[in-house]
Amino acid sequence: MSDAPSARALTEPAPDPSKGVLRILQLYPREMNIYGDYGNILVLRQRLAWRGYGAEILEHSTGDAFPSDIDLVVGGGGQDSGQLVIQDDLQSIAPTLRHLADDGTPMLVICGMYQLFGSVFRTHDGLDIPGIGVLDLQTQGGSERLIGNVVATSDEFGEIHGYENHSGQTFLGDGVTPLGTVVKGVGNNTDDQHEGARYRNVVASYLHGSLLPKNPAIADFLLRTAALRRFGSFDDDGLDDSLADLARTQTRARPR
Ligand code: GLN
Repeated sequence: MSDAPSARALTEPAPDPSKGVLRILQLYPREMNIYGDYGNILVLRQRLAWRGYGAEILEHSTGDAFPSDIDLVVGGGGQDSGQLVIQDDLQSIAPTLRHLADDGTPMLVICGMYQLFGSVFRTHDGLDIPGIGVLDLQTQGGSERLIGNVVATSDEFGEIHGYENHSGQTFLGDGVTPLGTVVKGVGNNTDDQHEGARYRNVVASYLHGSLLPKNPAIADFLLRTAALRRFGSFDDDGLDDSLADLARTQTRARPR
């Protein structure tokens, strides 16, 4: 057993989570959590609460022991400097993350963490930040920053809305499929029309905003998958997503 402190529980389960509690792990909230990415955690917790489930939100930071019994993993974006700070610790938990992903644990990784879930991020300065190889892809830093609103389409999730801000360009290998096809914005790179990546129950995307408030179909995919694995069922009462729909209408009309 490691002497390292275990990941801290940020929130206690809801007072009466009658249908059960899911354990959601956020990776490196200090370094990898920009452009509002923490909103993804808030959406997961709130959509569970509306349905009578609880969420125990855990954080993994550098030096922590990796917690057990995790139902869902979330990682956010980070500057190149943040990616450098966490790289050694990330390598130390890589076998666990690879095992969880291969086993079907749902995960959402955004931008900087998306890049590090691939095999390598070669920065614009020529520095190689090794990834953890969960996803068959690699990223090359560029001189141009790709910034702006994005709309992509996906057979699985319908229209996907978000905001990108990255210089790394990501190229997918055969082991993953694109999350969507870009109809506004850039997405993974300036060569193809792909945005994000899909592997098993991992959803990877460049999109901040944060992503999940405007994309409840993705949030519910992650929650349904986690709940089915943990409880064998998911009480999937339709929620009122009229505010999310309104936001999607607005973002669709926004200029790039
Ligand atoms: N540092 C990476 C890049 O600029 C990721 C940025 C981000 O997470 N928004 O490509």
